[in-house]
Amino acid sequence: MVRVRYAPSPTGSPHVGNIRTALFNYLMARKHGGVFIVRIEDTDQTRQVDDALDDILESLRWLGITWDEGPEVEGPYAPYFQSQRLKIYKQVCEELIKKGSAYRCFCTPEDLEKMREYQRINKLPQMYDRRCRKKTVNEAGNLVSKGIPYVIRLAMPLEGKIVFEDAIRGRVEYESSLVDDQVLLKSDGWPTYHLANVVDDYLMKVSHVIRGEEWISSTPKHVVLYDAMGWEKPTFVHAPVIKGPDGAKLSKRHGDTRCLDYREKGYLSEAVANFIALIGWSPGGDRELMTLKEMEDLFSIEGIQPSAGVFDITKLQWMNGHYIRQLTPEKLYETVKEFHEKTKDEDYRKLQSQEILTKAFEKYPKEYLVRAFVLEQERVKLLSEFADACLFFFVDEVEIDKQAGEKWLSADYVPQLLDVLMEQCEKQQDLNHDVCESMISVAVEKLGLEKRSMAIHPTRVALTGRTFGPSLFDLMALLGVEQMKKRFAKAKLFAESLLSKSS
Ligand code: GLU
Repeated sequence: MVRVRYAPSPTGSPHVGNIRTALFNYLMARKHGGVFIVRIEDTDQTRQVDDALDDILESLRWLGITWDEGPEVEGPYAPYFQSQRLKIYKQVCEELIKKGSAYRCFCTPEDLEKMREYQRINKLPQMYDRRCRKKTVNEAGNLVSKGIPYVIRLAMPLEGKIVFEDAIRGRVEYESSLVDDQVLLKSDGWPTYHLANVVDDYLMKVSHVIRGEEWISSTPKHVVLYDAMGWEKPTFVHAPVIKGPDGAKLSKRHGDTRCLDYREKGYLSEAVANFIALIGWSPGGDRELMTLKEMEDLFSIEGIQPSAGVFDITKLQWMNGHYIRQLTPEKLYETVKEFHEKTKDEDYRKLQSQEILTKAFEKYPKEYLVRAFVLEQERVKLLSEFADACLFFFVDEVEIDKQAGEKWLSADYVPQLLDVLMEQCEKQQDLNHDVCESMISVAVEKLGLEKRSMAIHPTRVALTGRTFGPSLFDLMALLGVEQMKKRFAKAKLFAESLLSKSS
């Protein structure tokens, strides 16, 4: 039975690396019809951050990562918050002391500082020198009865190697004497990560521990704990570190931010889940585009690579464009609207086009907005780009970009071209792609232009103010006769003023 867990500490809003761990565990559970547990490791009370828990659960929900046991859903091994399990950890510690696998350490912070100073001066390894381990049971008992505070430390083997199998890296070995006598229980009775994590993985019957490579150096301590308690160990799976495309450690510069920031920036959850899963995992072959459902079928631990995973934001953008193109017109409309209404992204809120879009939702029939979004769907990579891309559909008058105007409205045939187009407008009733195309053909013929592009580019600039955009005939059809007439007339003035300047 596969039972896996995502065990975040609520010390901040999860970033990509952390969410990748959640995703791999989730996919592993779904692939094997197993159980995915969310366990909140909130034992370091000093590092707790308000809202972190909400952000953790919201990130999972947004990506479609559902959990079978954990906060809100509970389950047979509740509670799933470590802060509610302190008694259990204490009991295990007592047992470890009885077995001689853990001991009480009465060193004060000052003692430890002096010890470190000595080690620094004498170039010795920086670790606890195990002095309290030599105390007899009676000595320790006396100190306890005097009320002297203590921590409980794990007694690491003094010689030999600690060996374990990692599903990705194979056999991993650590020299026991170089591994610290880890604190398991602090003087205030709270456990450290190492104790609580191992105890809960055992009690919650976790079969596979899938986590980031940064935890591999903790594993020898965990192995010693399992062995000391006589508990069967889970399979350890350490996923590779994540780097930027330049090979440097992943940073904000590469786009590493809160997972939820991607939602605010206009990414779809499908794209983010697909992208994150592929950082360090591959289903084999060169398959890249996969929905969560598809990944649930394709996932395997063997597909996790030992070499660093690369976080490439341009790939995420490409994927996002793909998933935007997959949306049906109705869904596209709903998605853009929801993004527009909910995002708190400051860069987006600063856009003038975004204010215009707010008004457009009130002013135009839904059908008009749907068609405008559909026309831009091919080109847009982020939901946040729709406001600007569709701007010319939602204004009464377009601002003609100076460069675009000078490039395409300055030829002397342009005023006449615009006249012909205005005449054509008068004759049209029902506009569609073909009708609009024939309007351009008529103009080309009437003016005797050598190339159709000589009519197409000025028309686009006149109608949109820009040199780029969706299919000209489609956008003409959507704008309609009245808007076109108005815009052609304005562009004619623009063209004439250019001509009078040059003459
Ligand atoms: N609480 C640890 C974290 O924040 C869990 C590490 C593990 O999976 O063992 O990532």
